[in-house]
Amino acid sequence: MNLRIPGPTPCPPEVLEAVGRQMINHRGPEFAEMLARVDKGVKHVYQTKNDVALLTSGGTGAMEALVVNTLSPGDHVLAVSIGAFGDRLASIAETYGADVVRMKLDWGKGADAAEIDKALAADSKFKAVLVTHNETSTGVCNDLESIAKAVRKHGDILLLVDAVSSLSSVPLPVDKWDLDAVASGCQKGWMVPPGITMVSMSARAWKAYEQSKMPRFYFDVGRARDFAKRGQTPWTPAVSIFYGLDVALGILLKEGLESIYARHERCASLARNGAKSLGLQLFADQRYASNTVTAVKVPEGVDGKELTKVLREEYDTVLGGGQQHLAGKIFRIGHLGYVQEADIEAVTEAVGKALPRLGFSPSRAAAS
Ligand SMILES: *Cc1c(COP(=O)(O)O)cnc(C)c1O
Repeated sequence: MNLRIPGPTPCPPEVLEAVGRQMINHRGPEFAEMLARVDKGVKHVYQTKNDVALLTSGGTGAMEALVVNTLSPGDHVLAVSIGAFGDRLASIAETYGADVVRMKLDWGKGADAAEIDKALAADSKFKAVLVTHNETSTGVCNDLESIAKAVRKHGDILLLVDAVSSLSSVPLPVDKWDLDAVASGCQKGWMVPPGITMVSMSARAWKAYEQSKMPRFYFDVGRARDFAKRGQTPWTPAVSIFYGLDVALGILLKEGLESIYARHERCASLARNGAKSLGLQLFADQRYASNTVTAVKVPEGVDGKELTKVLREEYDTVLGGGQQHLAGKIFRIGHLGYVQEADIEAVTEAVGKALPRLGFSPSRAAAS
């Protein structure tokens, strides 16, 4: 099965073997040793000296942690949304009582740092900016470095980042770009089954934490920090997933960050060029094309849901569909984590075989 959705992603055999191991005492010395190793590896991938909380949950839990650990009800925040995950982050902040101003862009577009700069300049009350680094629903990777520079021009405004589908796969130097809190999730580029998420906290974020009044319990990163000093987590962690992450970090560190980024770049260009070679059009503004997920327009006259079904049932290829209003209109190829060029070439081949069976011919697409 060629599973090419943007998470959960396939896992290396060594990781799968690790997650099947017998349990240990999560308050004993073996767990403490593993936690220290995982903490070190995760910080290396984050390129940070900041604390990184390791939480047991899916990625949305880490998004919630970004909000509840740094903000207070009534805080004026700018939520930059370029798709489904940006909307989700804004909704979480609203749910906890933040005063959210949404900067909503058309799906497929990337956020403009100058626009963010302008919005912050026009209103001095903003406490934080929420932004998605890589918008998985559209295949757009925001220019986070420029966005961070724009935010920093306005003093100590917090920059809270959902990097669930980018961190570990594309360059994201957390300290160099001075990002305050950055969320990731192990089931994306980290090559591990779902269950652990990470949230880095800058000094500025910790200061905000001390003043933050949003309710929090399970996702309290201060508790995570205090327990981590003793080699523990506040609550029972996903022990098996820690085993997997420990092994996956070994694989990632051995390959090296630069090689990982280059491999993702190669796989992404194969996905984009493969789609174009079939006569298909890409959905995202290509100036912001993501190196972890590619969204492709379903051609006129073809039923998008039927396409993913035929691919799954007859070509052993599982791709993502479109979310919300894009359901049936795009399909998404995940190329992050445990992926090689051949996996993406196989996707192009399968799509090329399935499409004509659904009434598509490239010459017709080119003519329309
Ligand atoms: C997958 C993803 C999430 C959420 O992860 P879940 O584990 O499904 O909760 C959040 N943000 C982005 C950008 C993602 O790709």
